[in-house]
Amino acid sequence: MAYVELRDVTKLFGTVRAVDKLNLSIEKGECFSFLGPSGCGKTTTLRMVAGFEDLDEGEIEVGGKLISSKAKNFYVPPEHRGFGMVFQAFAVWPHMTVYDNVAFPLKIKNLPRAEIESRTKQALENTNLTKQAQLYPNDLSGGEKQRIALARALSINPGLLLLDEPLSNLDPHLREEMRFEIKDLQRKYDFSIIFVTHDQSEAMALSNRIMVMRDGKTMQIDSPLNIYAKPKNQFVFSFIGLSNFISVKLTDGRAVIESAPEAGVLESDIPQEFAGAAKATLACRPSEVDFVPEGRGVRGVIDRMAYLGEIVDYIVKIGSQEVRVQKGRREPRFEVGQSCSVAFPRVVWYE
Ligand code: ATP
Repeated sequence: MAYVELRDVTKLFGTVRAVDKLNLSIEKGECFSFLGPSGCGKTTTLRMVAGFEDLDEGEIEVGGKLISSKAKNFYVPPEHRGFGMVFQAFAVWPHMTVYDNVAFPLKIKNLPRAEIESRTKQALENTNLTKQAQLYPNDLSGGEKQRIALARALSINPGLLLLDEPLSNLDPHLREEMRFEIKDLQRKYDFSIIFVTHDQSEAMALSNRIMVMRDGKTMQIDSPLNIYAKPKNQFVFSFIGLSNFISVKLTDGRAVIESAPEAGVLESDIPQEFAGAAKATLACRPSEVDFVPEGRGVRGVIDRMAYLGEIVDYIVKIGSQEVRVQKGRREPRFEVGQSCSVAFPRVVWYE
């Protein structure tokens, strides 16, 4: 039995279906990300789990207990759900010391003094804030402030930690560091995480599984690897990483570029489900297009190029089709205007 279960969860704002019959389950100890463009319903879903929004349909269960159900008209208020939460803005109290910030949720629970002290100290130690315990938040850096929020969320020993873009106010270096810290903390405390982000590399780095959302609906729920390598549809393909979409014509068991069939055969291995089709769209990553010797692959011309440090970024034009190619800076180089041949060893087929 999964630790978190969402069944047919739906939220309407007027006529907008912000979340549309969402079904998902999250295991104990799993880090599960909601990933998608702005407005796709990530935050609304998280707020329903937290208890800040009611449901228009469906139900949510956590740890085997029902916490929201439209049909049963049942709802556990947020303060009784016992989840840890860290949101985008550094929600720390500036007039309290770091120690008091972390101890506060334990104090309002009326826990015995000794327990408050030991749990607070533990949470501060686990988030590397012991030395700053007597300082005030305004004396600390952005990363440290965000760690206070984490320490406070963890001091209550939550089974579930809800994170809504918690790293987005941090500089890139600190963000990366915090990713590792969150992973570490998860190992120490063994909670489940729901992580909301529109940053795909953050979702990939932190998650056991990712749900890609669009318009309140699930596009795919899968491991980071499968989301990247086996995207279920073009939306997921284009949302994760860089992408090329190539329109092809299928004739005589071969795929040729629609706007330049004479440039060569792109693929002669047609998947069974496309056997009778006349057209398809092939998707591939720029890093998975190869330059090959003339006479093989598809002929094109280098239209643009840019050095991006370790990699060189090319746009190859084949008829009116543009194909982005990325190669290591140590590989043989092409110049703008030069003709070249490209091969596509790894493509995903879409209708
Ligand atoms: P972002 O990444 O920008 O935070 P999101 O994926 O978290 O976006 P939500 O904030 O969940 O998206 O919003 C989903 C949809 O619901 C959007 O169309 C949004 O405009 C709408 N919405 C969210 N909250 C409200 C509200 N309180 N009243 C009306 N519409 C809302």
